[in-house]
Amino acid sequence: MATERTFSIIKPDATRRNLTGAVNAVIEQAGLRIVAQKRIHMTQAQAEAFYGVHAARPFFRDLVTFMISGPVVVQVLEADNAVARYRDVMGATNPANAEPGTIRKLFAESIEANSAHGSDSLENAAIEISYFFAGTEIVG
Ligand code: ADP
Ligand code: MG
Repeated sequence: MATERTFSIIKPDATRRNLTGAVNAVIEQAGLRIVAQKRIHMTQAQAEAFYGVHAARPFFRDLVTFMISGPVVVQVLEADNAVARYRDVMGATNPANAEPGTIRKLFAESIEANSAHGSDSLENAAIEISYFFAGTEIVG
């Protein structure tokens, strides 16, 4: 299996409850390496661009408002099969449907405030990583 990099966000509901370390423990215990990480407060323009694919969805406005409601931690995660592996570690979008032990089952407050973002494809991972990180900030 090939080593991949995926993009992760620890969302405002989790940073607000001081859960950055708890989420990172789940990530690391699953064998994903955190090869870049920083805490930022997204601007409205950044959040709108990042979630642009969802612009037509009814929840878009609320999602952008939520994502700028507090700091987030953006990360690059590295592992064999990192994209699919992190999707498994996060669990289903709706925490009610997430498997036990997943980040969303453990920590999410709701389908919107669901504690984590993870890229859905290798192609989107590269786009999302380059949106927030310079190559020199990623140390594998
Ligand atoms: P995922 O984050 O699992 O890839 P999506 O890409 O479909 O899920 O949605 C992006 C984010 O939008 C979700 O993580 C969640 O925060 C929010 N979201 C998705 N569906 C809904 C919904 N039905 N109501 C409110 N917020 C939603
Ligand atoms: Mg998605």
